[in-house]
Amino acid sequence: MKPAGENANWRVFRPVIDVKKCKKTYGCYAFCPENAIQIDKNGFPFIDANLCTGCLICLRECPCGAISEVKEK
Ligand code: SF4
Ligand code: SF4
Repeated sequence: MKPAGENANWRVFRPVIDVKKCKKTYGCYAFCPENAIQIDKNGFPFIDANLCTGCLICLRECPCGAISEVKEK
């Protein structure tokens, strides 16, 4: 198991979910290879920044354009 925060150290981009655009298709949740996306009590996905590698597969799998990328500082 990776130590918490390890992925965040080398990530170039990170995904951001706009829940206002999210239609709860859960493609992001299903395809994230790191299990970094979880579902909140309202059924919306959110990202565990400690697990996310920034691969942006979730962005490509979202049919609603609800996920965008921002450059890590
Ligand atoms: S960028 Fe990759 S690792 Fe991060 S939440 Fe999306 S699919 Fe998962
Ligand atoms: S893939 Fe897009 S629309 Fe589907 S649950 Fe994830 S953010 Fe929402």
